[in-house]
Amino acid sequence: MGTATLTIDLDAVAANWRTLDSESAAGVETGAVVKADGYGLGADRVARALARAGARLFFVAVAEEGAKVRQALGPAVDICVFSGHMRGDTDMIADLGLTPMLNSLEQVTRHLEALPGHPFGIQLDTGMNRLGMEPPEWAALRDIVLSQSPRLVMSHLACADESDNPMNTRQLAAFQEMAEGFDAPRSLAATGGILLGPEYHFEVTRPGVGLYGGLPLTDAQPAAFLDLPVVQIRELDPGETVGYGTTWTAEQPTRIATVSGGYGDGIHRALSNRATLFAGDTACPVVGRVSMDLITVDVTHLDDTPDALTLLGTQQSVDDLADAADTIGYEILTSLGARYERRYIRGHR
Ligand SMILES: *Cc1c(COP(=O)(O)O)cnc(C)c1O
Repeated sequence: MGTATLTIDLDAVAANWRTLDSESAAGVETGAVVKADGYGLGADRVARALARAGARLFFVAVAEEGAKVRQALGPAVDICVFSGHMRGDTDMIADLGLTPMLNSLEQVTRHLEALPGHPFGIQLDTGMNRLGMEPPEWAALRDIVLSQSPRLVMSHLACADESDNPMNTRQLAAFQEMAEGFDAPRSLAATGGILLGPEYHFEVTRPGVGLYGGLPLTDAQPAAFLDLPVVQIRELDPGETVGYGTTWTAEQPTRIATVSGGYGDGIHRALSNRATLFAGDTACPVVGRVSMDLITVDVTHLDDTPDALTLLGTQQSVDDLADAADTIGYEILTSLGARYERRYIRGHR
């Protein structure tokens, strides 16, 4: 088969959820963020694995994403929508039983008028300036909103992956002030915020990337394994070049493996001449440019011709690969392509 195989370990996702859940006190509810199709791993499958592990509160970015999660999990879980109640979302929110995180006076008005009595949450801006109500807007709406018993009042940290960044304590203080004196459950922490310590946990946490094996959860189990089949092997003489733009030249007799997978599968072109693939534990450098469907790899030092080379696995995490591409693990995960043969497993392969 010429198609690359993406193997997703659902037990690793569940174990990572339990690890993050155990970071906070017993009374704190650990949710699960499954936006962007479960960070590229398949929202329906990871949501079912997370529900088996004990998650009851799920988060998506937009209402449309809630459909797949509701279909996978049925009516027993809460599904919160970060973008809130957008124009045109009312039927979806009602039919799917979604809980919009209202971000503005406009959204609060729309929601309370269109769906009175329907659950909602509130998103506050504590300094990131991305989503949520700012202090003056919130001060004006607070009493009306709180009289309607919001499911959750939340905000989001801008620098939670840097534990000593002073932005964290500033946002914590702002959140405490804005969320003071009411009963609704509060949530400030995503993966990074959970690791900052208990004062960031409040009543609900919202981890995403750590569930899928990414930093800043340093002891996360890898959940995504990507193997690219070798399509062809060739021998190069010194002076011969490889790939588009002739960006790599053999200096000695070289054996090149051409593997199936490329930027059309979300393997960033920035990895040209930079990434490493693995034959077992043996590193094999990418030589030449990553093209749409193919990558060329120097395998001169291997004794045998492998059937496939590994790009993601225990040898190389999503964050290792992200470093080589000058990006973050989140982008590696959410770029994972639609063309892969996806295999879901429970427990390590
Ligand atoms: C994406 C997101 C999360 C999850 O963040 P991670 O860093 O992946 O754990 C939590 N809350 C909000 C508002 C988000 O946008």
